[in-house]
Amino acid sequence: MNIIFVGPPGAGKGTQAQIVSKTFKIPHISTGDMLRTEMDSGSKLGNQVKDIVTLGKLVNDDLMNQIVKERLSKSDAVSGFILDGFPRTLNQAKSLDEILKSMGKQIDRVIYVDVPERVIVERLSARRMCPKCGRNYNMITDPPKADEMCDDCHVHLITRDDDKPETVKKRYEIYRELTSPVIAYYRQKNVLFTIDGTMKMKDIEKHLIEMIKGRK
Ligand code: AMP
Repeated sequence: MNIIFVGPPGAGKGTQAQIVSKTFKIPHISTGDMLRTEMDSGSKLGNQVKDIVTLGKLVNDDLMNQIVKERLSKSDAVSGFILDGFPRTLNQAKSLDEILKSMGKQIDRVIYVDVPERVIVERLSARRMCPKCGRNYNMITDPPKADEMCDDCHVHLITRDDDKPETVKKRYEIYRELTSPVIAYYRQKNVLFTIDGTMKMKDIEKHLIEMIKGRK
């Protein structure tokens, strides 16, 4: 099963993709996580994208297409994958079609996580991340057990640079301008499934699994 999660920043795509990844035993490929790992390691690629990511802008399409092409050719993605954060532009969506075609594959489901802008701004300003394991928390709806500490790693949680209010606004504008056409593209191809990302997590999980199993 080859799945894409698309939706505004902070829609909960990462959390939901992790659930689907565990349930269907296919890798969760988050391009944002991949870039952050490169940045943390101080690699050439990481340094190349650092300023762009911190400012909430998009990394150029050619580079992203290359990163995803390499990742999808790894052995763990043979029997399926979940892409989270890619494609983010129409150009990336079309390149992905080409990449998959050359591998004899296709997209089975595109899950659009629909969340209004007002909720996004609220959520992202309350989001914290564990710098060690990458787990996300929300200080209002899903806080850690102890004050601002990761439940698993017991290290202090951080606010991602790109979750700062002025950057969130920028990221949402970019989403509206560049990523909305991607949603229309997949709708036209009849592979788009919409989920209301404001529902309770348990309900989202149930709907998601039904959608992916083809019962919706
Ligand atoms: P995310 O964690 O998906 O919100 O991604 C964090 C940041 O990584 C984005 O704001 C972009 O700067 C960069 N990024 C991730 N995926 C892509 C992509 N498909 N195209 C361009 N930039 C990306």
